[in-house]
Amino acid sequence: MNKCKRCFLYEIAGKEDVYAHVLRTRELLAAKDKASDAVYDKRLAICRECDSLLEATCLKCGCYVEIRALKKDATCPLKRW
Ligand code: SF4
Repeated sequence: MNKCKRCFLYEIAGKEDVYAHVLRTRELLAAKDKASDAVYDKRLAICRECDSLLEATCLKCGCYVEIRALKKDATCPLKRW
């Protein structure tokens, strides 16, 4: 089976429970702490093009990027966002 190196959780079969956690975390974050939808989408677009993304995980920090990018003050370990 071909695996997509730069997939996100919502695209990976079998990771539905983890993606549900992303959605729940996004819902529960206080508005003052949460990145806007536009910022979140921009961050993930940058991750999508990054060689350090492997199956939704950032190889530089070990985080699921869909979770890391949620907080307003979060940063990329390579300072790409
Ligand atoms: S957080 Fe930064 S280093 Fe990690 S995958 Fe995204 S762009 Fe790459």
